[in-house]
Amino acid sequence: MYDSKYRAGVVATLAVFAAIPVCAQPRCPDPATVAIGLSGPIQDVRYLADDALQGREVGSPGARCAAEYVASRLESMGLQPAGDNGTYFQVFPVRRGAELGPRNSLAISSESYASGKDWTPLGFSASVRVEAGLVDAGYGLSRPGTDDGAAHAEVSGKLMVVEWGDPDAVHGGGLRGDPHFKATVAAGRGAAGLIVLLPEGMSLPSAEEEIRNALDIPVLAVSASAAPAVRAAARAGRTASVVTDVRPTMAEARNVVALLPAGDPTQAGRPIIVGAHFDHLGLGGEGSLDPDAREVHNGADDNASGTAGLIDIARRLSAGGRLAHPVLFLGFTGEEKGLWGSAHYVSEPTLDISRAVAMLNLDMVGRMVHDAVTVFGTGTAEQWESLATDANAGLSRPLTLSFSPDGYGPSDHASFTAAGIPVLHFFTNTHADYHRPSDDWDRIDGDGIARIGELAAGIVRRLGGDERTAAASLTPIRTVRPAAPTATSPSSSSSSGYGPYFGTIPDMTPRDFGLRITGVREGSPAEKAGLRAGDVIVEFDGREVSDIYAYTYALRDKKPGDEVRVVVERDGVRITMTAVLAVRN
Ligand SMILES: [Zn+2]
Repeated sequence: MYDSKYRAGVVATLAVFAAIPVCAQPRCPDPATVAIGLSGPIQDVRYLADDALQGREVGSPGARCAAEYVASRLESMGLQPAGDNGTYFQVFPVRRGAELGPRNSLAISSESYASGKDWTPLGFSASVRVEAGLVDAGYGLSRPGTDDGAAHAEVSGKLMVVEWGDPDAVHGGGLRGDPHFKATVAAGRGAAGLIVLLPEGMSLPSAEEEIRNALDIPVLAVSASAAPAVRAAARAGRTASVVTDVRPTMAEARNVVALLPAGDPTQAGRPIIVGAHFDHLGLGGEGSLDPDAREVHNGADDNASGTAGLIDIARRLSAGGRLAHPVLFLGFTGEEKGLWGSAHYVSEPTLDISRAVAMLNLDMVGRMVHDAVTVFGTGTAEQWESLATDANAGLSRPLTLSFSPDGYGPSDHASFTAAGIPVLHFFTNTHADYHRPSDDWDRIDGDGIARIGELAAGIVRRLGGDERTAAASLTPIRTVRPAAPTATSPSSSSSSGYGPYFGTIPDMTPRDFGLRITGVREGSPAEKAGLRAGDVIVEFDGREVSDIYAYTYALRDKKPGDEVRVVVERDGVRITMTAVLAVRN
C-alpha cells in the first residue's frame, strides 16, 4: 500500500489542493436539521450515518463533512485545536484512483491496437515504454498437477500474455485470479510486463477507483474481440511495443486532532490518547460484504458509534476538573483502507506521543447485547485488567467485560501498539449488518455507547490523575504475543482457509521498500525461523517483497509444509532464514 511514489506524490498533491477553492466543495448537511429531537451519542451517530455523508469514504466530501462535524463537536466542548497550523485537522494525501494520460499505445508487428477500445492499461500499471517479445504464459499461475506448461515458460524480459482469471477458483476469480496478483508474480519472475486477455462479456476495467500503487511493470487488459490476435501473436513469439500512461489521482484526507490540556505542566509531554475512526466504505466495493451493492454503506456501528463514544468521553472529561495529564482526542480517517489515518498520525504526529501513557480505541461499540463489551489489549500493560475492572465497578450500571490480551487487532489501536504504547480497544462484537448498507443508525444502542463512554472516561481519569488523586501507574508490556491470529483485512497475513501460515505481524507505517514487521506470533514458523520485531522482509521464497501485497501474494502462492527462504534486513544487514510454513487454522 505504501511506497516512494506515494511519498513523491505528497508535495505535488498538496499544491493541487491549494488550488481547489473551498466553495467548490459540496455543502455539508446541517446537523440541526439531520438529528432533530435526538440527544447524546445517538445524535452524533444519526448525523455521521446520514445518507448525505455518502458512507464517509476516505478522501470523499462525506468524509470531509464528518471530520468537520467531529471537530466542531470537540471545539464546542472547549478542546483546543492540536492539528496542523493551529487547526483541528491533520491533512495528508491519499490515493483515490487513477486516470489515463494521452500517451497510451500498443503495436504488435506494425499492427496498432486502439487504447480504450481494444485494450487499456490497468490502474496499478507502471507508466513506461517497453519493446519486448511476447510469450504465451497460459493463466500465468503455477497449477501443481496440471500440464499447464505455458505457466512455466521462460518469461524474463518478455511481455507475458495470460488468460484472465484462475480456472481453479470459484467463478474463476479469487485472489490468484486478480490481475494485480498475476502482475506481482510476473514482476517477481523478471517479466517486462503483463497482458491479460479478457473473456467474452467482460468490459475493459476502469482505473478510476484503483487505489493500489503502481507496480514497476506495464499491466494491460485486452478486450475479448482483440484477444485472439494478441494470443496468436504471443504464440508466434512476435514483438510488441507498449507505452502506458497512468496517473494516480489523489485526494485530501484529514485526521481530527483536539487536546484537553494538562492540569499539571510537568505532565504535558505524557498524553493519554483517545481515538476512533470516522471513515467508512462509501458506496461499497472493496471491503464490503455486499460487494455488488453500489449503495451508501452508512457505517452507523462501524464506526459512527465509536466516534460518538469519543465525543461522549470528551464531554465527560471537559465537564470535570482538569486532569494532571493531557488527553489527546484523535478522529482517524482511512481506517477501512488499512489504518491509513492512524498509521500516518503515528509516523507524523502533530504532538509528541513518544511518551504517551496509553491509547484507548473505540471501534464498533453501538450494538451491545446483554451489557457485554470485549476489551482488547489488556496484554499491553500489567495493570489494564485491574484498572478496567475498578472503573467498571464504579459505573452506575456496570458492564459485563471480557478481556483479550491482543493489542494487534484490525483497528487503529494496532498502529499504537506497534509504537510500544499500551492500548485498550473497546468492541461490542460484529453482527449481520457489518460492512453492509444495512448498518444503519436506527439499530444503534445510544445508551450503550454512553455506558462505554462512561467506562472509558473512568479509565482515563484514573490514568490522568488530578490535584487530589495521583495518576495510576501503567507498566507497558513490550512486544505482546497474542494467542491466536486475529480476523483480518487483506493487509495482514492471517485469514482462514487452511492456507499457508507464517505468523508475522505487519507494520502498516508507510515505507519505501520491503515489509517491516512489528512482531511475530507465538510459536509461529516466523518465530521459529528467528524473525523478530523490527525486521524488514525484502525477499520471500526468492521473490522481492516491495510491499504488503507482494508479501501476501508470495505467501499465498505456497502451501503448508513448504520450506521457504526468507531474507530480512536487520540493522542494515541482510540475513537469510529458512522456515517451514504451517497450516492456517
Ligand atoms: Zn471499523
